[in-house]
Amino acid sequence: MEDEKFDCIIVGGGVAGCAAAKILADNNMKILLVEKGEWTGSKNVSGGVLYGPTAWEIFPELYNTLENPPFERFINRRRLSFVSEESSFSIDYKTDHYNKVPYNGVSVLRSKFDRWLGEQVEEAISKSSFAEDSFVATEVMVESLIVKNGKVCGIKAGEDEFEADCVILAEGVNSLLTRQIGLQKEMVDAKYVASGIKEIWQYDRDLLEAKFQLDGLEGLSNEFVGCTQGIEGGGFLYTNKDSISLGLVLGIKDLRESDHNIYDVLDKFKEHTSIKNILKGGKMVEYSAHVVPVGDIDMIPKQLYTDGAVVVGDAAGLLLNTGKSIEGMNLAMESGRLAALAIIDAKKKKDFSKNSLKNYQDRLSESFVMKDLKNFRGAFQFIHNPDMFQKYPDLINSIMKDVFLVDGQEKQKTRDIIKKAVDESDLSYWDLMKTTLQGGISL
Ligand SMILES: Cc1cc2nc3c(=O)[nH]c(=O)nc-3n(C[C@H](O)[C@H](O)[C@H](O)COP(=O)(O)OP(=O)(O)OC[C@H]3O[C@@H](n4cnc5c(N)ncnc54)[C@H](O)[C@@H]3O)c2cc1C
Repeated sequence: MEDEKFDCIIVGGGVAGCAAAKILADNNMKILLVEKGEWTGSKNVSGGVLYGPTAWEIFPELYNTLENPPFERFINRRRLSFVSEESSFSIDYKTDHYNKVPYNGVSVLRSKFDRWLGEQVEEAISKSSFAEDSFVATEVMVESLIVKNGKVCGIKAGEDEFEADCVILAEGVNSLLTRQIGLQKEMVDAKYVASGIKEIWQYDRDLLEAKFQLDGLEGLSNEFVGCTQGIEGGGFLYTNKDSISLGLVLGIKDLRESDHNIYDVLDKFKEHTSIKNILKGGKMVEYSAHVVPVGDIDMIPKQLYTDGAVVVGDAAGLLLNTGKSIEGMNLAMESGRLAALAIIDAKKKKDFSKNSLKNYQDRLSESFVMKDLKNFRGAFQFIHNPDMFQKYPDLINSIMKDVFLVDGQEKQKTRDIIKKAVDESDLSYWDLMKTTLQGGISL
């Protein structure tokens, strides 16, 4: 393998890298997909709901075996909960519209799902013209890129060097190689990254389905606001086949400046009235933590390509957070696909210079990835208003407490309940008007 020159080396066997590798193998490119983990995705952490049709378009087998699918459940029930110390108010939406293939979103357990993606890449390689010369190499850590005359032309892993016309950097948010060649800043500001923490709680499948009123492969995703002790971020609960993924994503800068640590915030969340009964009958079987981009478009490098290399997925900071969901995996896969298509074009032209690879960024700009990130730039500012993480959830719950109260006293009109709650809160009517207007414009 060492003497071979590849058309493309893909660093990172997460969702972005596997998506790119699959497209390249399908198009008879000679590839090397390198993953440092024991298998593709073995180290990956995600909530996680994989949204949209991109995954299915690249991996059509995804929905072929619904008796034993590689994903966990299709999500046809969405819930957004606003949490205060003792209460929780939720918007709950369930629909049969999301029951059909291609599903709107499916819950996945990454180490299992990404392993399946890696197997699909191997299958595509076995059917390609380079069945004997393309590889998925696991337990290989890429330490640096080989750069000659300003052009990336391969990778170094320990004593080994591998050459390629082009390298796709799909290495995730830590992006050390991307920084090595100057595509990402040497130091990424802490305000652009968050810390994700997740526990998997396992149940008897019937018990889980009864708890969440699920039938067959139906699933629920529940996002939480106000469960973070005032720290920027939110919580999530996603149903898997016989488990739930429960966790938090907290802004690293805000967390660092607070008196809390992430484990205590999660423990407190687990004791909340909206969670503690859910955990009864379950057993915590897995615990993991990972860094994730916060979804600020300003983190994305202006240029995602250079001579001989492109950067995709989390390494490029591509994540959309509109408050109602985190979209990272679908953006990663779409960017992987577009990078692969640009590289296929570059091969036809025999030109892997940055002028040629700019085609990747042009495609990305025209895709839903950059359009959504641009259109929802204001949403990012809106949901990162510090009042969102405590004051507003507290206000909503204080209103709801009195709306539903029956205490033998004369009832108050809703208008008066709202006025009393606002007067008792730290928020002014001006804050409310501003926030309502901002929300209306940005969401
Ligand atoms: C707690 C949490 C919850 C989340 N929830 C959701 C969700 O519900 N929905 C959603 O869409 N997104 C979610 N995300 C975001 C999502 O996980 C990421 O956006 C997505 O995984 C990015 O994919 P990627 O392929 O770019 O990077 P990754 O998935 O991080 O994959 C990078 C891969 O590269 C490998 N690698 C890195 N460096 C090297 C190297 N030098 N050599 C070899 N291999 C290397 C790694 O081992 C890894 O397998 C969540 C993230 C977290 C942390």
